[in-house]
Amino acid sequence: MRTKEQYIQGLSKMRRNIYLDGELIDRTDERQMDCLNTIGTTFEEAARPENQDLCTAISHLTGERINRFNHIHQNTEDLHMKQDMTRMYCQKVAGCIQRCMGIDATNSIYNVSYEADKSNNGSTEYHENFKKWLTRFQTEDLVGCCAQTDVKGDRMLRPADQPNPDAYVRIKERLSDGIVVSGCKVHISEASVADEVLVVPTRALRAEDKDYAVAFAIPGDWEGLKQTVTIRNFRPRQHFPRGFMQGATDSYMIFDDCFIPWERVFLAGEWQHGGALALLFALFHRHSYSGCKPALGDVLLGTAALAADVNNIQRAPHVREQLAEIIMVTELGYAAGYTASDLGKPEVFMPGQGFIPYGPGSYIPHSIYCNVGRCLTGEAVFREAEILCAISGGAPATFPHEGEFVNPETKDLLLKYTTRSPHMSAEDQAQLWRYMEDSLCSTASGAARLGAYHGGGSPIMEQIAITTQYDIESRKKLVRYIAGMSGGDREALS
Ligand SMILES: Cc1cc2nc3c(=O)[nH]c(=O)nc-3n(C[C@H](O)[C@H](O)[C@H](O)COP(=O)(O)OP(=O)(O)OC[C@H]3O[C@@H](n4cnc5c(N)ncnc54)[C@H](O)[C@@H]3O)c2cc1C
Repeated sequence: MRTKEQYIQGLSKMRRNIYLDGELIDRTDERQMDCLNTIGTTFEEAARPENQDLCTAISHLTGERINRFNHIHQNTEDLHMKQDMTRMYCQKVAGCIQRCMGIDATNSIYNVSYEADKSNNGSTEYHENFKKWLTRFQTEDLVGCCAQTDVKGDRMLRPADQPNPDAYVRIKERLSDGIVVSGCKVHISEASVADEVLVVPTRALRAEDKDYAVAFAIPGDWEGLKQTVTIRNFRPRQHFPRGFMQGATDSYMIFDDCFIPWERVFLAGEWQHGGALALLFALFHRHSYSGCKPALGDVLLGTAALAADVNNIQRAPHVREQLAEIIMVTELGYAAGYTASDLGKPEVFMPGQGFIPYGPGSYIPHSIYCNVGRCLTGEAVFREAEILCAISGGAPATFPHEGEFVNPETKDLLLKYTTRSPHMSAEDQAQLWRYMEDSLCSTASGAARLGAYHGGGSPIMEQIAITTQYDIESRKKLVRYIAGMSGGDREALS
């Protein structure tokens, strides 16, 4: 396994294809370092002996120990470990750990490439090719991101009906040695700091959308790929450093007639499998949210409770109620993910067929619980921000810049006028308001809130999954029986 330094060194050798505000930048540009610091944690923690079980696993392909972020889930224990590892990492960096997109994409492609080959009666070798790619990905301890979200053009039109044929990434040309793809994936987290990009379709597809059923993996600096990056760092600090510097990046990834050799292609035209891959990546990713959102809840709860301490309102009944609300959402999200792990099987839900065996035997979390957990916690983010705002008052929004706290002309006056609780040092109180400016009022925190709401699919997408997959009919039969209506069945849910 690699060290954080080796990971950064690997990125420093990559071709420059990242644009930031008009400049072409290196991956190790100073503005990307907070994000590298965040992902670097996944190398540092995995190297600690006490984290071996949580953060590493034994590859089912090579028998070697690998970073768990590059592992294919072999049993329910692996699903539990992935959830707990994600919660641990997101607590440590107080935000998105970002490497989860890689594990969720590899697990979904691993299953779908197998099923596509099966339907093609052995005329394709997607799964074998993917396993070869995965072996290198695991052995070299690479970082993967997942490019799923297309620009999508007119939301009411399906891919093949769009006036712009590149509104969804598509196969433009098929050659003897590979395919040429065209299109753009948007909002792709950590693409500017990833070694490999895994590309999967966004949505269910029809036969006429077959050119949009495409999955492949390429290095982030591949010929024909351009990235424009948005960087989400907190305001730099000079005098009062933070305990941890977190950062995140998101890219628009433009595939400009980009050639992909067959050995890197894992789906090319099998439209039914394209839709299955879109849903399966979303499912694995919603399961990851049952680790990261509880961690964000942990950080949020600590922040709200400290703000209550500074204001000396910690015993007020409304504060207790609001803290309880954060805890309930946090732990319900975790419980949903735990159940999804525990009920995991090599099975997926197929519309019209129910749960069916799927893939070569790796484990897939239970769909209903993944969707319920992500929807509940995703929708809560703005309410949680409201709670922080209610408890803190206005201080995080208008707190004076740090320079005023070192300037002899203003320093003592400001400490005098910003001190609230007699039970905490004035410096710590000031430091909390500075952190709350980061976590509640900054551009980075606003963008993270949109990510927590929409990432893995907007809440409406989870609601569609829940209501189409849940057996509502049997509940109606039960109530028909209880109410004394016709067609009732007391055993409907047995
Ligand atoms: C910070 C951040 C990080 C992200 N990271 C990643 C990543 O790493 N990889 C990745 O692939 N994606 C990523 N995403 C994308 C995320 O999955 C999408 O934002 C989400 O799926 C919603 O898609 P959209 O943004 O295109 O919104 P839209 O799909 O445009 O949705 C906007 C609104 O239109 C509605 N709508 C859309 N289509 C229809 C329709 N046909 N009928 C009726 N209503 C419709 C939606 O319900 C919603 O209310 C990230 C997003 C954010 C904000």
